[in-house]
Amino acid sequence: MQQFKTESKKVLDLVINSIYSTKEVFLRELISNASDALDKAVLARAEAGDAAPDDELAIELAFDTAANTITVSDNGIGMTADELERNLGTIAHSASLELKQAQAAAEGADGEDVDIIGQFGVGFYASFMVADEVTVISRAFGSDEAFAWKSDGVEGFTIEPAERDAPGTDVILHLRPNDASNDYTKFLSYPALEELVKRYSNYIRYPICLETSGRREVEPPEGARKWEPQFEEYTERRVLNSMVPIWAKPRAEVTQAEYDAFYKKEFGDPNPPLRTITMHARGSHNCDVLLFIPSEPSGDFYSRDYKKGLELYSAGVLIEEQCSDLIPEYFGFVRGIVDSSDLTLNLSREGAQDDPFLADVAKQIDKRLKHELDVMRDEERDTYVEFFANFGRTFKFAIYATLGALNEALEDYLMFFTAIKDEPVTLREYRTAMAADQPCLLFASGDEARKLESTPSVRAVIDRGWDVLLCSEGIDEFSLMTLREYDGLPIKNVAADDLVLDSVGDLERKAQADADNAALFARMREVLPPDVEEVRSTLRLSKEPACIVALGPVSLGMERYFASVPEESSARPRIRHGLEVNLDHPVVKALQEAFAAGDSEKVDRYATVLYGQSMLAEGLEVPDFGAYSQAVYALIG
Ligand code: ADP
Repeated sequence: MQQFKTESKKVLDLVINSIYSTKEVFLRELISNASDALDKAVLARAEAGDAAPDDELAIELAFDTAANTITVSDNGIGMTADELERNLGTIAHSASLELKQAQAAAEGADGEDVDIIGQFGVGFYASFMVADEVTVISRAFGSDEAFAWKSDGVEGFTIEPAERDAPGTDVILHLRPNDASNDYTKFLSYPALEELVKRYSNYIRYPICLETSGRREVEPPEGARKWEPQFEEYTERRVLNSMVPIWAKPRAEVTQAEYDAFYKKEFGDPNPPLRTITMHARGSHNCDVLLFIPSEPSGDFYSRDYKKGLELYSAGVLIEEQCSDLIPEYFGFVRGIVDSSDLTLNLSREGAQDDPFLADVAKQIDKRLKHELDVMRDEERDTYVEFFANFGRTFKFAIYATLGALNEALEDYLMFFTAIKDEPVTLREYRTAMAADQPCLLFASGDEARKLESTPSVRAVIDRGWDVLLCSEGIDEFSLMTLREYDGLPIKNVAADDLVLDSVGDLERKAQADADNAALFARMREVLPPDVEEVRSTLRLSKEPACIVALGPVSLGMERYFASVPEESSARPRIRHGLEVNLDHPVVKALQEAFAAGDSEKVDRYATVLYGQSMLAEGLEVPDFGAYSQAVYALIG
């Protein structure tokens, strides 16, 4: 006997004893393996130029109450002795590690319904949940030798020559004896197996057959006048699964619960989808599309490893698992299936990708998804808000990453929190609610949405009765800067240098004030750090004495962002600040008086404190914090 590898032993133990609350999934796993083997047989036959009719391909189930066995057979690709050893005798190290992590996570949750078998290439081992001995008799396609692999699922396995008439595989499970908490014999019946097949494997494309026998009444011969009821024993091979894939069925024939179950199983998501969308085209081109908007992003969605794409089938044959051309980047979270009988069955990827028909399907999908979101946004507000909280970032990234090419396509799907509303708004809503005298859309950026409301530049705008879009993530600001305008109006940062909000008369007064205070401002600049290139009076403040503005292309929000990411400091763009002071504020008045009285020590302290406070209010660091706090103590002491 060959021993299982150590890792395999541990995984086996996990699979059998602790991973799954439902033992009945063993059948689903074996049927899926059989179906995969049939897929591979189709390909192998095509390559060998031996295209046998598809209807020969099938999965056969059988049970034997006397022997206490269930058998799952297929006439698929089969396995050589080597493959039996490799595929069934070892488990990839990485798979076992992942499995253990998943198990730890599952135990953290309530452990139920965590569907991980089948995800890590351990499905076959599910057999040992119900069986104390498993025999796999297999003959590989193109070989005339068969082998039997046998194991008790504990220590190891044996492989010996065996007999099999044709290529394919029989998996024979010898069921465990029933115990206090488990009834294994219940699987030994036609209705039990039928139920499991319908529940888990209904859309397997190959017939799953099971013989049934019994006694039934014989139909009277046609035209018979007098007929005594007669009975006969019969044995019949029945197909248990519906086979027609769910995506090919008209919507009215499928319940939402069936769609949900299909989605969960197919895409490994424990939650039902937020939206199920079906499209059917008949005529010159036949095509069935089934799309799902998940209710939550999958764990890896926002990582680099995530791959977008839809499953592409040609007349029920899987061509590509993740056909990325079918879906634009910004709908990358959408899962689904496209099946068309009008694709030439070309097994090379390029063949399918170049098809102009596919490009057209992709366009229809894009249009349909946008329509779905339009309706959700306009008619099911709460759902849209939830959707946007989960996936909205993708749209913002797309706008930014395409440098404006998608502005029009996506701008109306964006949502932002604002300084005065309690819920996120769309740009359209913000625009509609704008005060008549507000010249542009305004945004402010910072770390936490709510904290932004207290920055001087935001307060100043709110005091005018205007609202401000709040950017709490770097991408919020990048997307708005890429949009640049909405509905013909510019979108501006409240702390931007070029934000001129007042009338010409105000501007003239400001110019005069700057001239009058030129000497004071020049003196202040001398004590402040070199990135403060200008000190000037302001039109934007009413209650605060001063604020920092960004003079260059790097906004304060971007500055905060750069400060938060660990990057080579040499790679950071140069920061240029301006300090704007509110000449009507008592603190600034005191500063002016000190300057007039020639108290340069006091002037320097005031300048240092005004600058330091303004930086802190924007969530930025004060470069020389020591000097700042010295100045504060000196003034209050
Ligand atoms: P997975 O199917 O996820 O890869 P399994 O543990 O279920 O993991 O199966 C391991 C491997 O054994 C499969 O990848 C396949 O190569 C092989 N195998 C299992 N069942 C069959 C079968 N009925 N016919 C041919 N090969 C099979």
